[in-house]
Amino acid sequence: GAKEDGRGRYRMFEASMNARIQARRSLELDLRRAIARQEFALYYQPQVDARTGTYDGAEALIRWRHPERGLVSPADFIPLAEETGLIGILGEWVLRTACTEALAWPEHLTVAVNLSPVQFRDARLAATIRNILAETGFPAARLELEITEGSLLQDEQRTLSILRELRALGIRISMDDFGTGYSSLSYLSRFPFDKIKIDQSFVRRTPHDKDSAAIVRAIAMLGASLGMKTTAEGVETDVQSNFIAGQGCDQLQGYLISRPVPADAIADLFAASVPRRATA
Ligand code: C2E
Ligand code: MG
Ligand code: MG
Ligand code: MG
Repeated sequence: GAKEDGRGRYRMFEASMNARIQARRSLELDLRRAIARQEFALYYQPQVDARTGTYDGAEALIRWRHPERGLVSPADFIPLAEETGLIGILGEWVLRTACTEALAWPEHLTVAVNLSPVQFRDARLAATIRNILAETGFPAARLELEITEGSLLQDEQRTLSILRELRALGIRISMDDFGTGYSSLSYLSRFPFDKIKIDQSFVRRTPHDKDSAAIVRAIAMLGASLGMKTTAEGVETDVQSNFIAGQGCDQLQGYLISRPVPADAIADLFAASVPRRATA
């Protein structure tokens, strides 16, 4: 009868819930071990000047080389790291590694590091970063932090004081995935960002989708009038690149220029781009 069916469905639901909880627990255990076993690596994706096409720097993107699962995407483990509190040590590892590896790059190039909202809320964040800069000798002026709307707290004064503390160190702050949140425009008027990263969803549909193209153009103009740089992320075609550069956007990032590559590969790419002085 109906009652039996209901119970059967419930047991099936329960079984799949249990399987999911098990899978999550095993991934969480793996994550704890991975930190100790150093299974993480940073890949870097170059950012270029939209007008000249020359390199401005690169964004650090974490990768997990899992012994059985292979390369695990950050979208699959960052949320878990946030829920379990492991993001603290992981985030610190990312910052220290990015500052160390970017020291090998030509001096004018910047490195951008993604910051989780959990890290952003940590009262010791500025002190942690100051220590990492001191330990590694990496100049604050070459470090950018990318935050998302999830980092912007209800308490506006607290958010402002964290942003001011970070900027006082000489670090620059970028608003990542701009345009996807609930009150993107109001954030721009309230908080002192140095850079706006136009979300991939608009870039991908530009210029063939008129609305997306209009949004890209509007954000580029907004950035220019607010004194903030603009970066288009997820640029995959020449058509997108030409159109977006023509709208006055400052920087381009995406597979068209390069996919994210390992640390040694980005160092080689950057070194090769600097004109060598003639010998003899
Ligand atoms: P994000 O910060 O918005 O990074 C951009 C993502 O778009 C990266 O995915 C990058 O590989 C991808 N991408 C870049 N260009 C293109 C393109 O032309 N086409 C397409 N289809 N994709 C492109 P990835 O590396 O998988 O990272 C996903 C997200 O995970 C990041 O989004 C960021 O939110 C988070 N993440 C990555 N590394 C870290 C980290 O070290 N710490 C924290 N807290 N989050 C991280
Ligand atoms: Mg980012
Ligand atoms: Mg983004
Ligand atoms: Mg994102």
